[in-house]
Amino acid sequence: MITEKSSDKLIELISEETIQQRIKELAGRINGCFSEKEELVVVAVLAGSILFASDLVKRLHMPVQLEFVRLSSYGNDIKTCGKVKPVDLTLPSLEGKNVLIVEDIVDTGLTAKFIIDYLKLQHRAGTVKFATLLNKTCARKVEIPIDFSGFEVDDKFVVGYGMDFRGYYRNLPYIGYFPQD
Ligand code: 5GP
Repeated sequence: MITEKSSDKLIELISEETIQQRIKELAGRINGCFSEKEELVVVAVLAGSILFASDLVKRLHMPVQLEFVRLSSYGNDIKTCGKVKPVDLTLPSLEGKNVLIVEDIVDTGLTAKFIIDYLKLQHRAGTVKFATLLNKTCARKVEIPIDFSGFEVDDKFVVGYGMDFRGYYRNLPYIGYFPQD
């Protein structure tokens, strides 16, 4: 049984150093896709992407506008419920702009599909690119065009570096998982 306080059982999956090195590489690739003068609106999906987005944007060289949306897809503690609930979609006009969506993890892909479609269809963003720190392909329900992906992970419920279990562990600088009891 996972409990909020059992962090002593947490097994490290991706170290802080490995995460930071990979973010450096991803930022380099993103910088390579835009000129230094081209503006980019980074839309971070809260709350899970908060640490990834903040480390990533520090390494981008073009003029960046940082915006946030908050979505929820979790039915219970560790399984997505199959429905995406928009909690806060407040954004300025993105019409014709270059947008980079930043996610913590793509699991079923429903959250990613929701926000990509929303920015393309409702906001009529000019270009929409998608970055995720983790890509969990085993539970994918819809195809997602991922432009920048940090790490592939298998079917584990991970926490740390922005990702939570019952609101805890987001502050960990590394990513870990709980062994099955
Ligand atoms: P999807 O819509 O792709 O199924 O789920 C996306 C969201 O579910 C992610 O943004 C994240 O908040 C949450 N999620 C999916 N897998 C995990 C996981 O292994 N650990 C945690 N903490 N959250 C996850």
